[in-house]
Amino acid sequence: MFDIGVNLTSTQFAKDREQVVRRAREAGLTGMLITGTNALESQQAQSLAQRHPDFCWSTAGIHPHHASEWSADTASTLRRLAESPQVVAIGECGLDFNRNFSAHNQQEYAFDAQLALAAELQMPVFLHCRDAHERFMAVLKPWLPHLPGAVVHCFTGTAEELAECLASGLSVGITGWVCDERRGMQLRELLPQIPVERLLLETDAPYLLPRDMRPRPTSRRNEPCFLPHIVQQVALWRGEEAAWLAQQTADNSRRLFRL
Ligand SMILES: [Zn+2]
Repeated sequence: MFDIGVNLTSTQFAKDREQVVRRAREAGLTGMLITGTNALESQQAQSLAQRHPDFCWSTAGIHPHHASEWSADTASTLRRLAESPQVVAIGECGLDFNRNFSAHNQQEYAFDAQLALAAELQMPVFLHCRDAHERFMAVLKPWLPHLPGAVVHCFTGTAEELAECLASGLSVGITGWVCDERRGMQLRELLPQIPVERLLLETDAPYLLPRDMRPRPTSRRNEPCFLPHIVQQVALWRGEEAAWLAQQTADNSRRLFRL
């Protein structure tokens, strides 16, 4: 069981990061990828990963929310971080036209620049797309032949968008969003359409606590130790066996990120 999306640098984990990693191991996880969302957090993610060799790895990138921070300096920080053995992907990068914390042109510029960096360094990319599918694919597609791998993390799009992602060769990250009986139903029905070798699982902790956990956790904070619940539910809705799916998706993670 491998969690490809843990925001371990979040201040929500400030008091107990070591215990969060310990609980993840105790829950049966075999690895996790710590998300870098700007220059500083990508550095923090790398140093956290360094403390847990062979269990934690990290990404280095600028999230679309932080695209306005993009500069030659951030590019060289990412380039330097990418030399570290813990850093196994460029990202999280992409487009977010839902929250619009950075202007669309800034988001597209930073996204394109990170794809160029990943192609140059021959690293896989960890992608974020929210309410921006058309522009996201337009920026991404020219780079795909030059990239060794790509996952669109926390996929929440439509059937048509999923089909286009799969046809373009992307892997798809599924979070506990799919456990939400209010907004996750459409995605739940799409789960069987994802070929198992393209499926990756993630908590996106501390966000997106699965809403159908019983008993409900006392805190709203999500943790990587809740990944087994997501594995179980996704396996149920795909008509597969949970232990088998856990192994397959962990194998996919190690293949994509070359661990
Ligand atoms: Zn994201």
